[in-house]
Amino acid sequence: MYWTDTQILRFKDLGLNPDDYPPAFDTPAERNRAFQKIEKQQVRIQRMKLAALLGKDKKTRIQALRERLESTLFDLGFTGVTTPTIISRQALRRMSIDAAHPLNKQVFWISDKQCLRPMLAPNLYSLMKDFSRLKQRPLRFFEIGSCFRKESSGRVHASEFTMLNLVEMGLPLEERQSRLEFLANAVMTAAGINDYDFETDDSQVYGTTLDVVAGPERTEVSSGASGPHPLDAEWGITDTWVGMGFGLERLLMISQGETAIGRWSKSLTSLDGIRLKI
Ligand code: ATP
Ligand code: MG
Repeated sequence: MYWTDTQILRFKDLGLNPDDYPPAFDTPAERNRAFQKIEKQQVRIQRMKLAALLGKDKKTRIQALRERLESTLFDLGFTGVTTPTIISRQALRRMSIDAAHPLNKQVFWISDKQCLRPMLAPNLYSLMKDFSRLKQRPLRFFEIGSCFRKESSGRVHASEFTMLNLVEMGLPLEERQSRLEFLANAVMTAAGINDYDFETDDSQVYGTTLDVVAGPERTEVSSGASGPHPLDAEWGITDTWVGMGFGLERLLMISQGETAIGRWSKSLTSLDGIRLKI
């Protein structure tokens, strides 16, 4: 005898895997009692966690991560910026993303001319151009904000996620690779992840990227690129630069030893990994 279909559904609501609870019962009555016990205990645990979050803890893990990343980057001389979430078709086109581009199918269009940004790069390119009018170098800045992509697959993709994108301009050409590695290390350390590797990957937008992979499944947590780059001409950029984009939910997932971002994505059914609808 196994759990009923309704009980299996309820297990999921409760954030539990029924297979973690071997069915040790002989009659439906015993089964239902066993189920009620598990349910009651789980509700109590989740309520306690929620009470602690709204009481003494106050900060969700993703907020704490964000603050650690910000303070690390401020210490390294980066300025924080916040740019619009809605961007233009023109800006995407300047990233080489036109109707024929594979990423175009993943874009949430809100009108003929506007979409929700699938990445922070177009806005940061625009700032690079404006900041480059200053004489001082290097120029360092970053943004942390929501990005949106229609994703068809899986456990490490959400349609809305939080990106950290950092940019450093005007460094010596030969230092770009080591600087990318240094900055990746600073971010990974702030995220509490010591075990990670670099991989080179082919990006549809950036050509070859320096990726950071981590966790038991060696999940990509970041892609980095550097310039001079073929896209620079479109934005009027002539400086050298390095840039990296990190997914905060993936960083959090890995720092928690998990392999799915579901618990850490923006949601109204769970908050800081705590089930709400129970
Ligand atoms: P993937 O190949 O895993 O789909 P990507 O190479 O398309 O990722 P990038 O454009 O390199 O993603 O974005 C930079 C970072 O943003 C990724 O390394 C990842 O951490 C995060 N990211 C990208 N898409 C998503 C998503 N749909 N949900 C959560 N995080 C994402
Ligand atoms: Mg990538």
